[in-house]
Amino acid sequence: MKLIVLGSGTSHGIPVLGCDCAVCRSPDPKDKRMRASLYIEGNSGEAAVIDTGPEFRLQALRAGIRRLDAVFLTHAHADHLHGLDDVRPLSQEKPLPVYCDRPALEELKERFSYVFKITQRGGGKPNIIPAEIAAPAPGVWIAVNIGNLRLSPIPVKHGALDILGWRIDEGGSSQADDSTRTAVYLTDTSAIPDTSLPLIGSPEILIIDGLRTKPHETHFNFEQALHTALGLGAKQVFLTHICHDYTHQKIEEYCRNFMQERELKGISMGPAFDGLELEL
Ligand SMILES: [Zn+2]
Ligand SMILES: [Zn+2]
Ligand SMILES: [Zn+2]
Repeated sequence: MKLIVLGSGTSHGIPVLGCDCAVCRSPDPKDKRMRASLYIEGNSGEAAVIDTGPEFRLQALRAGIRRLDAVFLTHAHADHLHGLDDVRPLSQEKPLPVYCDRPALEELKERFSYVFKITQRGGGKPNIIPAEIAAPAPGVWIAVNIGNLRLSPIPVKHGALDILGWRIDEGGSSQADDSTRTAVYLTDTSAIPDTSLPLIGSPEILIIDGLRTKPHETHFNFEQALHTALGLGAKQVFLTHICHDYTHQKIEEYCRNFMQERELKGISMGPAFDGLELEL
C-alpha cells in the first residue's frame, strides 16, 4: 500500500493567520502544515482518506487523488471534517461511505444537514452515506474492508473525548496479523486506553499526534508521542498535528536526540510533513 500524509498541521494550520513567528515565515515547504489527513491507496487501486479537513481539495489536487472508495473519520472537529463537501466530484459515480463512530455521525448529519434534505436544486451535493461502524459490544467495533485494505478502529482519548484512531492492514485476514505490513494513524490523541494496545500491536509505521514540546490537555506532546511509540515497538514513527513552535528541522533534531539519548537502533523517528509518501 501507499500512504500520503496530506496534512501534518494542528487545527489552525501553519502558517497561522496573523502570525509572524519564525516557523510561520519559514521558506521551507516542510514548515507549511495543512490540517491533518492521511490518504491510503491499496495495491489494487483501492483508495481511502482519513479525515477531510478544510484544505481537502487542495491536498487531493496536490496528491493527484482521482478516486475515493471511502472516507474514515477520527472525530468531528472542524479541522478534520469541514472539507467533506469537496469529495463531490469523487462521489458522483457511486455513493461514498463515510465511516465513523456514533458521535461523529451525529455531528456530521448536523453540520452537513443540507446533504440530507431535499431543499436544494442544482449546486450539487456530495453523494455520501454516513456509515456508523458496527459495534458488537460497547467500545468494540468491527473493521471495515475496502478491497484488500482493512481499516480497524482504535479507541483513543482526545482530552475528555473518546475518538478513533485507525489501523491499516492490507492483504486479507491471514496477513493482517503480520505487523511489518501494518500502519497505524493516531491523530488528536492524548492517551491510549490499555484495552486499545492489543488492537494497535507493534506497527511498522506509526503516525502519531505530537503537537509541540509543552504539555497540552488534548494532545500528546513530542515526548509523550515518542515514548508511546517506543512502548508500542513501532518501527517508523512520524509525528503529526504539529503546531508552529518548531521548524521541521528542529523537530528532526529533537527526535534524533531522543533516539541518541536512549541509544535506539533499528527504528526511525521524525516529523511527518505535507506530501510525505510511504510505501508498505
Ligand atoms: Zn485536530
Ligand atoms: Zn507562527
Ligand atoms: Zn480534535
